[in-house]
Amino acid sequence: MSTLLSETAAGEPHAIFNPATGQVIGHVKWSSAEEIDSAVQNAHEAFPAWSSTPVKKRVQVLYRLKQAIESNLDKLAKLCSAENGKTPAEARAGITKGVEVIEYAASLPQLVVGGYLEVSEGVTCRTIREPLGVVAAVTPFNFPVMVPLWIIPLALGCGNTLVLKPSEHVPLSAIRLRELLIESGLPEGAFQLVHGGREAVERLIEHPLIKAAGFVGSSRVAQFLYERGTRTGKRILALGGAKNHLLLLPDADLALSAQNITDSFTGSTGQRCMAASVLLAVGNVQGIIDKIAEMTRGIVPGRDIGPVISAEALNKILGYIDQAEADGATVLVDGRRAKVEGPNEGFWIGPTILDNVKPEMPAAREEIFGPVLSIIRTPTLKEALAIERGSPYGNAAAVYTQNGALAKLCAESFNASMIGINIGVPVPREPFSFGGRNRSRFGYGDITGQGAIEFWTQTRKITERWGDYKIAGWIS
Ligand code: NAD
Repeated sequence: MSTLLSETAAGEPHAIFNPATGQVIGHVKWSSAEEIDSAVQNAHEAFPAWSSTPVKKRVQVLYRLKQAIESNLDKLAKLCSAENGKTPAEARAGITKGVEVIEYAASLPQLVVGGYLEVSEGVTCRTIREPLGVVAAVTPFNFPVMVPLWIIPLALGCGNTLVLKPSEHVPLSAIRLRELLIESGLPEGAFQLVHGGREAVERLIEHPLIKAAGFVGSSRVAQFLYERGTRTGKRILALGGAKNHLLLLPDADLALSAQNITDSFTGSTGQRCMAASVLLAVGNVQGIIDKIAEMTRGIVPGRDIGPVISAEALNKILGYIDQAEADGATVLVDGRRAKVEGPNEGFWIGPTILDNVKPEMPAAREEIFGPVLSIIRTPTLKEALAIERGSPYGNAAAVYTQNGALAKLCAESFNASMIGINIGVPVPREPFSFGGRNRSRFGYGDITGQGAIEFWTQTRKITERWGDYKIAGWIS
């Protein structure tokens, strides 16, 4: 989804909406080119002191940040709900998941240790992991705290200083995160925030002092950022959009798979890059589909799920449903006329299931980013796998079965890189790394785990030889 429709001029206040009510809840001034340059300059000036602070001391800030977030959890979740629309429970879950990355980064003293070897007689080689310098992060709207926390603890913990440009839809959580970091003892200059849309991102990414950038968002922008950044020699890791397939086999456990599939496509109102989007229904799985439809009808917008982020997003999702219906799909569960209690102008849609979708339809191929499940019926596993393998994306895929050999076959055949077996949102938790492939990731590496440590650092290799100290004769 593009944010271009809501562009505001640099230096002007940008309105933040509560997507549940459509009401303005605050404003954030968009940064001018000069303000972006000075944020980078401040981070540059903070780099020598922060990078030379021993890593054991740097991670003390992260320990305190974890405690600060946990003791402010309810307030932070409320803020996150207000600007993103998530239910409070979803907001708390996302923040808690982000805290796991802080916990992982707190182990950096153990994780950034270099190597040492005598490579030939009297000659040793050692490697040291060093930070890159000033780095940038650009984040999306769907997890206002968790996605920034994929980057902040690891980039800073590795000794870099950081400039973050959060999504213009959800800057308030990022502002609060920065306050908590400073209260936790981070030097002010080490973490800068700038606000804006495309122009701000371009200015930031092209700044000569920026050495690397981590991006999370749609594939179109990820590719643009990757190409722009690498053209000037910067290290870029840009995670993009997704179209995730769940493959349902007839021997799957009915209760487990129905609940899990329903949660996967409706959770976060379908606005997560790990959400189920296509259900590849192999053979006769009608009993499970009936159960998914029944559970989906029981999900109440406003109670169980929040709204989508904007009127623009809502119209895009409705367009996919209308188009699929016009092309011959069956609307098995219809969330198009979702209403929530009380008068409001929020961006609401109920969970929707499209059945008899054909692989060539836009609802089967393109990222919808809403609570919509497209069911494609296939007679064989081979055809189902071919559909998944034909996707240009490559974030997540899952298989539901009780047969270990078939589960193994699917897990090793999928096109996507994050695989679930009877798990519909297969997020690899720490210490495992998070990252897709194909059009779901531009650049090399992963955004969390060991891959992120490699991304946010560079190695120095020192090869040394010393004369024979006995000859010097000063010891005895
Ligand atoms: P988006 O691409 O519209 O925006 C992401 C960021 O890029 C924002 O900070 C935004 O201001 C900026 N931006 C937008 N248009 C730009 C442009 N033309 N030039 C430069 N910068 C621009 O994404 P979104 O709507 O905020 O988030 C939803 C998308 O993010 C979905 O596609 C979703 O799959 C993806 N996502 C991916 C992951 C992952 O790990 N792969 C995780 C979360 C979200």
